[in-house]
Amino acid sequence: MDYAGAWSAERGRCHRLVYDPEGKPTGCPKQPVTSGWRSDYLGRWYAVDACSRHASQVEGRPRPRWR
Ligand SMILES: [Zn+2]
Repeated sequence: MDYAGAWSAERGRCHRLVYDPEGKPTGCPKQPVTSGWRSDYLGRWYAVDACSRHASQVEGRPRPRWR
């Protein structure tokens, strides 16, 4: 189960946080298969990696949110 909308900008692993079997948030353990971009709540963009399950949650390129 995904942990809210939480994610991490750490590279080399899937950026999403998920619940571990004990219900604590942990980094998604799946192998990253793609890279993309996500913006934080301030509109700053970060390059991130994503596994196949979370690949649809990243953008192909940074997109200014004020447009
Ligand atoms: Zn993932």
